[in-house]
Amino acid sequence: MPRMAEPIIMNHRVDLYIPSHCICTGILPENLRSNVIEAVKEHFDNWFGGHSEIPISGDWRLPDGTISREEVTDIFSFCSGEALGEHQEDVDRLAVDVANRLTQDRVLRAFDNLNVALWPNTCAELKPKKNCACTGGIATSDLGIAAKPIALKKADTLSKMLIIQGLLRDFRTVEHARRLFCDVLNHDYAASALPTVNWPDVARSLLIGQPTLLAEKDGFKIVYLRTSLDELRKAAERRVIQRIFKDDPTFRGLFVVSDQAQKAWELINVKTHGGDARRLILRRMRVGLDAVRTVTERLATLEISEAEEAFVKADELQSRHDTAFDAEAAES
Ligand SMILES: [Zn+2]
Repeated sequence: MPRMAEPIIMNHRVDLYIPSHCICTGILPENLRSNVIEAVKEHFDNWFGGHSEIPISGDWRLPDGTISREEVTDIFSFCSGEALGEHQEDVDRLAVDVANRLTQDRVLRAFDNLNVALWPNTCAELKPKKNCACTGGIATSDLGIAAKPIALKKADTLSKMLIIQGLLRDFRTVEHARRLFCDVLNHDYAASALPTVNWPDVARSLLIGQPTLLAEKDGFKIVYLRTSLDELRKAAERRVIQRIFKDDPTFRGLFVVSDQAQKAWELINVKTHGGDARRLILRRMRVGLDAVRTVTERLATLEISEAEEAFVKADELQSRHDTAFDAEAAES
């Protein structure tokens, strides 16, 4: 009897982002760029059996209020865990190769919209405006210099926006929340639970487990609530959040909320009125959807810069969050 073939589960994703601007900020020659894009697609087809492509248009509103005009092409494939394991180093080498051919200070690749790396060029003696890609001069590249990914903290703003967008469109685990708040927005890692022993059973029954602290900065808390319902319900969320404010009227923070199955996710900002837990205004941003551009722009404004890391205060973070949720979020 013929054996049934095991289905291959393509539950992983690989993204490589191809810039359109040179290291010197000039626009890359269209020919050169399309050759590089073709080469990337061919590799992805060979390694992962196919590819897709999305142009990500410029016009990002950056946190400092300026607009980034650079268009970026996102080439991605879905693949099995096995294919990802087999080819992740190839993807990293390809990112360095793209950085060399397009003379980039960094090229972003992401696995599962979660594990990201920024690869620099290894061009020897690259001189912007003299021998960079847009001047037509061919920079001497890849002289066996081992590339090391650039630390996320040193990433440029556009790369950070792309990383945030990737995390948001595929938001499905607390790991995505930790990456967002700890690695990109620079809160401190935390892992503990808020006590619920004194809660009434009804309130406790609205959650699976206890509220979990995911990240923190000067007492400003990012708290995960996994509700016990099969969809996100405002009344249940309000009840749990009110109880947390009753336990701690000075609470400062943001809630990351999911349904029981961890399929639907949202972020909830809480505005208080004179410490009265019954008069909380809850404002929500849905995440885990494709249309995350404005949410990305709002969240990027929450980054704690290296300069302020040591002294930023919870109240300042709360007011920054209140502002970020002013424009886009739905109130209830
Ligand atoms: Zn150039």
